[in-house]
Amino acid sequence: MAAPPGRTRFAPAPTGYLHLGHAASAIFVWGMARAAGGSVLLRIEDHDRLRTRPGYDAAILEDLAWLGFAPDAGPVRQSEDGTPYSAAAAGLQDEGLVYGCDCSRTTFERWAAERGKAWRGPGCPGACRQRAIDGPTLRVALGGGSESWMDALVGPCTDAVASHGDPPIRAREGNWTYFFSVVVDDLRQEIDLVVRGRDLLGATAAQIRLGRLLGRARPASFAHHPLVRRPDGRKLSKADSDTSVRDLRASGRAADELIGESAAAVGLIRTRRPIAADQVMRLFHTDP
Ligand code: GLU
Repeated sequence: MAAPPGRTRFAPAPTGYLHLGHAASAIFVWGMARAAGGSVLLRIEDHDRLRTRPGYDAAILEDLAWLGFAPDAGPVRQSEDGTPYSAAAAGLQDEGLVYGCDCSRTTFERWAAERGKAWRGPGCPGACRQRAIDGPTLRVALGGGSESWMDALVGPCTDAVASHGDPPIRAREGNWTYFFSVVVDDLRQEIDLVVRGRDLLGATAAQIRLGRLLGRARPASFAHHPLVRRPDGRKLSKADSDTSVRDLRASGRAADELIGESAAAVGLIRTRRPIAADQVMRLFHTDP
């Protein structure tokens, strides 16, 4: 069955509270889905067991609803069922594309320090694929070259597939990686529009290639939106309480104020003013 048009997802990781950057992301996700006549799946990305906290999961759901964003489906959690990830990894393994690796971050850093340049392209500094070792990390050999896509918010993009070596699909701690689980989920959940922050632009070429290796006939469409930054230009972090929806809410701020602040920070409205979620979504509608 063909997927409905513009099925997208909002995919926070429960490693902290929602912040104004997530609010901006939700505006783009819901706004673009609604404009395309599509839907939003809420996916809790709890693939990283070491950093996930149950309290954050519940708080994210509550803060999102308080802001005024209601998903059409979900929440679904990556932790609910591990079989899609093991099955996808087994498929790649059958193709001879998965290998164990014992290179750590330090191995990559040492290699770069010795040569004065970072490792680029496929493989890894330890030649682990050739050595066929039983390493703690599992990597996927994506091949070389690049992938191109027309980003709905950035424009035409082309990027190398393996810019920092073959990416890990399973980390040495035993959890499936962000890079891998997102591609498996977007495929099985029939996501055909990926709307997310520009900080993930660098992951896209590798994710398009991995999707193809997993049997995806056509890549999703991508839209990478601008990020909310701190006044000094830094990215927002889940550790900053002054931008967390939970803390701002507790200090008496209203949902439409926070939405207005986020929308202005990413250039969707010219000046900060209170605006409700269902109103801000209308900014994406273009009259025929
Ligand atoms: N889970 C990721 C995050 O919290 C988003 C994943 C994605 O959109 O690809 O930033």
